[in-house]
Amino acid sequence: MNQQPTQSIELDIRGMTCDACARHVTQALQSVPGVSQVQIPGWQSGRAIVTAQIDAPETILTAAVQAAGYQATVRAPLATPARQTPSQHSVHKDTDFDLLVIGTGGGGMAAAIKGAESGQRVAIIEAGVIGGTCVNIGCVPSKTLIRAAESYYRAGHHPFAGIETAACGVDWPAVIAQKDALVAELRAGKYVDVLASYREQITLVQARARLQADGAVALDDGRVLTARGVVIATGARPQRLPLEGIDRVPVLDSTSAMALAQPPTSLIVIGGRAIALEMGQTFARLGAQVTILQRSARLIPEHEPEIADALAEILRQEGVRVETGVTPLALREEAGQKVVTASVNGELQEFRAEQMLMATGRTPNTAALGLAEAGVATDDGGFIIVDEFMQTSRPGIYAAGDVTNRPKLVYVAAAAGGVAAENALEGNRKRLNLTVLPDVIFTDPQVATVGLTEAQAMADGYTVKTSVLPLSYVPRALAARDTRGLIKLVAEQGTDRLLGAHVLAAEGGEVIQTAALAVHAGLRYGFTVADLRGMLFPYLTQVEGLKLAAQTFEKDVAQLSCCAG
Ligand SMILES: Cc1cc2nc3c(=O)[nH]c(=O)nc-3n(C[C@H](O)[C@H](O)[C@H](O)COP(=O)(O)OP(=O)(O)OC[C@H]3O[C@@H](n4cnc5c(N)ncnc54)[C@H](O)[C@@H]3O)c2cc1C
Repeated sequence: MNQQPTQSIELDIRGMTCDACARHVTQALQSVPGVSQVQIPGWQSGRAIVTAQIDAPETILTAAVQAAGYQATVRAPLATPARQTPSQHSVHKDTDFDLLVIGTGGGGMAAAIKGAESGQRVAIIEAGVIGGTCVNIGCVPSKTLIRAAESYYRAGHHPFAGIETAACGVDWPAVIAQKDALVAELRAGKYVDVLASYREQITLVQARARLQADGAVALDDGRVLTARGVVIATGARPQRLPLEGIDRVPVLDSTSAMALAQPPTSLIVIGGRAIALEMGQTFARLGAQVTILQRSARLIPEHEPEIADALAEILRQEGVRVETGVTPLALREEAGQKVVTASVNGELQEFRAEQMLMATGRTPNTAALGLAEAGVATDDGGFIIVDEFMQTSRPGIYAAGDVTNRPKLVYVAAAAGGVAAENALEGNRKRLNLTVLPDVIFTDPQVATVGLTEAQAMADGYTVKTSVLPLSYVPRALAARDTRGLIKLVAEQGTDRLLGAHVLAAEGGEVIQTAALAVHAGLRYGFTVADLRGMLFPYLTQVEGLKLAAQTFEKDVAQLSCCAG
């Protein structure tokens, strides 16, 4: 292993006009001796971040770019070896930094920015691509593909609509190129540039980090960094079920599925929660024969059963085969097809398709992180156990985001990162409050939910009342000619407080935050379902469905006049 100290150098590159240019510049820089890593956050960014040995002359880097047909100038060193600089900046002279953050995803970025904004010296360490999961391989690329498939489907280009076959259908390379361009733009704008704007306070270190028993952080370039506090935000990756044959059969995960050269003609999706359903519906809309295999008796089993059943029916109507009660046992390849042998409600069955996507949850990025040596405890799934302050079992070491035993959502990761950094620097005084947590599954229609389901509320000891409003009663849905879905509200008898709202509707994600405010206001200020019912809602909007669902507690909605209060 190369033990020489390295630095990160940022170059301004001129002349890049496409992805191929970015590849050429990357190759040119990689060919320079002493360069260990090159990152170009999209050709549009006009920049390259190079990790190179400290003695690699910058002029050789610019010359290599020039030889490839582009122009380069050195912008500024982003990271210098910490041991050479920190004491002149650090508040505590006995540590290199005040805060060390491992990972540049949503959790790590929020932690680093919180530290920087409180005037502390922060180092953020990244082993892979800046920005982590959400922008590179998660929220952003998946939502742009979902929207592309939705537009394509709504335009009638769907094999089941009989208007056009998939074979002459979507321009997949163009869709992928647009997705990649958006990813590059947002990675540059929301991560790389943001870090650069904090260059005085935040040092970006491109290396793989490992905790030591003494609480310091060792890097794979040989350096060891110390700080008053550490925030681990190393995220998670797709989990692979340990099925017989899994090592012999190439199986897609969410990352590789979004990078396919062509959409498959047929696809088996193992899993029945958010990522499985979002991707399954997307590929079905692009023309694939999709089969979803879900282990539980229902899709999205943590959600309201009315919503899970309605969504399964909607998917079936689009031509997706939805099988529940399926336990996959073994995989094999046969005649160019992937075959799953599974137990279906106790009987053996086989399912075949050109491609197979496994979307059965996430596994934490904790291998070789030194958690055991550092005394950081994990749960049965390997996720770091944190308390409400985001502190791990080792005082001074905090964790945030998907690597922890908390919900795997980027806004939770970011909120947790801020809390973790503040507590690491100031002592435990801030708690992460997840009582009112809205959540959206980006199927079409979307599943949007906040607060307790009826079953959860009853398990928590509430005496509940519920209302269920089919979307066919919502004028907006009628006008849009898309009445698929329903709204279910869960309230407490007596206090009349809203405990939960569960929406299956086109753009349901835009509706749910109003319900989240109502749940929050109920808990905090005693806001009631009657208060919600009494508010003015604009006609015709999807969110008006919340008011109508609130009215349904008291009245037969079929007898309401238009906009009746
Ligand atoms: C397909 C998909 C769709 C999604 N859609 C949504 C959505 O619509 N909305 C939503 O809220 N959430 C969504 N998510 C979840 C969301 O992406 C994650 O919750 C979020 O990105 C987690 O952020 P994080 O900071 O915890 O980790 P990450 O973003 O994964 O960042 C961790 C970083 O740590 C780095 N790292 C790991 N180990 C080391 C090490 N030893 N040393 C140095 N660096 C290291 C990694 O390279 C990575 O860059 C989606 C996820 C997927 C996969």
